[in-house]
Amino acid sequence: MTSNTIATNETAVLIVAAGRGHRAGGGIPKQYRKLAGMSVLRHTIGRFQAWGAKGGIRCVIHPDDIDLYTDAVAGIEHLLDPVYGGATRQESVLNGLRSFQEAAPDRILIHDAARPFVAPDVISAVDAAIDARTGAIAACPLVDTLKRDAGDGCVGATLSRDGLWAAQTPQGFSFETILQAHEKALADGIAVTDDAAIAEGAGIPVRLVESGRDNVKLTTEADFSEAERRMSPDLFPEVRTGHGYDVHAFEPGNGLILGGIDIPYDRRLKGHSDADVALHTITDALYGALADGDIGHHFPPTDPQWKGAASDVFLRHAGDLVRARQGRITAIDLTIICEAPKIGPHRDRMRKRIAEILDIGLERISVKATTTERLGFTGRSEGIAATATATIMLPPPAAAPNGENVHDR
Ligand code: MG
Repeated sequence: MTSNTIATNETAVLIVAAGRGHRAGGGIPKQYRKLAGMSVLRHTIGRFQAWGAKGGIRCVIHPDDIDLYTDAVAGIEHLLDPVYGGATRQESVLNGLRSFQEAAPDRILIHDAARPFVAPDVISAVDAAIDARTGAIAACPLVDTLKRDAGDGCVGATLSRDGLWAAQTPQGFSFETILQAHEKALADGIAVTDDAAIAEGAGIPVRLVESGRDNVKLTTEADFSEAERRMSPDLFPEVRTGHGYDVHAFEPGNGLILGGIDIPYDRRLKGHSDADVALHTITDALYGALADGDIGHHFPPTDPQWKGAASDVFLRHAGDLVRARQGRITAIDLTIICEAPKIGPHRDRMRKRIAEILDIGLERISVKATTTERLGFTGRSEGIAATATATIMLPPPAAAPNGENVHDR
């Protein structure tokens, strides 16, 4: 759905997508190339929608790309109709600015379609730095030492990088001010490569708003490979499984804690903590999936602070370790092995409690029970055993520049 409504007193967004850059486009302009299954342009529009963009978002496109554009934005709501660009970026921006003339938003942010990583807080910071007389641009302080080529392939001079910034987008201005400056530049035949330069030429101060190097303009094939990796955390996750096994004996007492809940029984489980054999087993399965020791390693039984401890502390710790690695738990499959008590009547409460402790969906938790046909220690009702399998997903290992997996070195 498109809409032509623009809220005034707001900031409008102009996304410049008219470039012909085929170099890294795989045969089509690079802003339409797909990253993680979605066009670069669509990712970029999404960033501004996530920010808010109350003044409307409009793209400037090349007339030849209308089909690519229509495909790229299919289903995006509240996007203003596109306008066609001109022969240069500068002309394209001017066409885009003119298209907002009637709506006359207070401020406008101009952004390159090929920068799909712009963070909402950078957009906010640029927007906040604009006033009626001052523009603002996202920019990044240079970190590399600069060398000037002497012309013979050798270094002619080393330049100071003090005070040098690399200009990025968004670049934001009072709408009226930048429109007038652009019109004047056109009339005066001035050609520049970004809108800040137009503003500077018109005597408009432009604030530098620090942005990260990750707000990259996708230009080369290497930029696209890196962008694909950054955009696709879920395409090739690292799936891991871990296994847990634990046993606790019965001792005289009244009632068990099993699977995080109280279960009436004429004995209790013996252990240093609350002896919840089910939670211990799941905890160990999660540590196993992370290849990060076991419950005794993280919570030594020699440490008096864990005496009588509720075992949800252990389980939550294991879940937090998964989260700390930007991972998630996709499945827990627990089997409780005993003759008695009967597990079936308590199964749903256990699943609910385990889901609560791990803060994951109930549909990811399985609790099963079996007996050993009166064989062995569980068959003689001397205690309860439990096994569990945990499945987790971790982000894919970072790829080294040559494609080699850094984990494999
Ligand atoms: Mg145990």
